[in-house]
Amino acid sequence: MEGGLIMVEWIEEVEKRKDDLIKDLQNLLRIRSVLDEEKPTDDAPFGIGIKEALDFMLKTGERNGFSIKNVDQIAGHLEMGQGEDLIGVLCHVDVVPEGDGWSSDPFGAEIRDGKIFARGAIDDKGPTIAALYAMQIIKELGLPLSKRIRMIVGTDEESNWRCVDRYFKKEEMPSAGFAPDAVFPIIHAEKGIADFELVSREHRNEEELETELLSFQSGQRLNMVPDRALAEIKGSNQMMEQISGRYKEFLDQNSFQGSSSLNEEKLTLSLEGISVHGSEPDKGINAGLQMAGFLKGVPFQQKGLTFIGFLNDFMLNDSKGNKLGVAFKDEISGELTMNVGTMSFSKGFSKIGVNLRYPVSCDFKVVQPKIQSAANKYQMDLHVIDHMVPHHVPKDHELIQTLQAVYREQTGEEPELLAIGGGTYARSLDAGVAFGALFPGKPEVAHEKDEYIEIEDLLKATAIYAQALYELAK
Ligand SMILES: [Zn+2]
Repeated sequence: MEGGLIMVEWIEEVEKRKDDLIKDLQNLLRIRSVLDEEKPTDDAPFGIGIKEALDFMLKTGERNGFSIKNVDQIAGHLEMGQGEDLIGVLCHVDVVPEGDGWSSDPFGAEIRDGKIFARGAIDDKGPTIAALYAMQIIKELGLPLSKRIRMIVGTDEESNWRCVDRYFKKEEMPSAGFAPDAVFPIIHAEKGIADFELVSREHRNEEELETELLSFQSGQRLNMVPDRALAEIKGSNQMMEQISGRYKEFLDQNSFQGSSSLNEEKLTLSLEGISVHGSEPDKGINAGLQMAGFLKGVPFQQKGLTFIGFLNDFMLNDSKGNKLGVAFKDEISGELTMNVGTMSFSKGFSKIGVNLRYPVSCDFKVVQPKIQSAANKYQMDLHVIDHMVPHHVPKDHELIQTLQAVYREQTGEEPELLAIGGGTYARSLDAGVAFGALFPGKPEVAHEKDEYIEIEDLLKATAIYAQALYELAK
């Protein structure tokens, strides 16, 4: 220690502990901590695997001299340091089910080509162990701290976030922190996300018209672009043949895949689109909206016209909300986007499901009435199913400045601040960002078969976390 300056070769400190780090990670990965609520007990509300993984973290923390706490068997923490102020690292030890097609045992934690393969390797057990060793290095080097550092371990991130909901009802909120549960460099802004449905009101029966929209189905999830649409139409043979002929032209003109089949007086049309995540709807082809586009102008009965009309007038080829008058854009987090994820019409009843992602400086209280007023014209009501407000830590916040400085020093790369349409675990912290552990340009393997973490990246992340936690808490 010279002039009060502490120089630590962070990566060397990590290398010294490499074998133990890998062994601990392998042991954690061998626990199949998938949510299981078949036979919940007070001791294991989310199943035996999850309990085992949480216990593993707390036991390892205790072994290493951290103070630990189990919060209702669904979350816990490991703490070190001293002082009023608290710095948080938010991790999770639950994993999604392994799925099929693995080249080796998904819970074997086999090492091949410098990678550890297992469900949870990158999401989020690898980063969790990296953060644990980061804390341990600070502790073992005896570096002086003026704040406490606390690792918060959740067990329900992949499902309902009941772990952090409960945890922060009972426990202290860190003044700043990060979640190593996404990508490097730093995600500092996450859009607001609202899921809502537009549902037709009850209205009187009407006389049957010659051409009737019997049913329309497209999409199953609000946050995915639907890749298939199916419509059934009834009418005179002549009319059905005309529509069928026009449909074939429509498919050809747009190079779409689809089919039409006429059976008695019933015509069935199907269309294939391209499914992508609902945060970037323009990258896909929305089969339901394209089908609605084709059906515009068919002289359906009133209820059918209402359904097709709304989709055409307010949704088709407009994922930015221009037609609804809700388009919005800010410098921090970009544009408002809208994905029409489900569309259904049956027995005269329509239901349209939308996943809306809005920028951090936009207010849903302004957006919602505008959409409702458009829906009013079509006798539909808006029901919010789910809503998360935007999350944002400003660029000049000390947390961001510190993480950027550490990242720049250790990687030599410029730590660009990212804004995303999705939600990360970091948003459950008041002042929290997502910080790693996947490095830029590396393939996204979370939730996929043959999930892995590269050992070199694991060690690099550990060194970055160690310095970051030290700088934040010193
Ligand atoms: Zn995760």
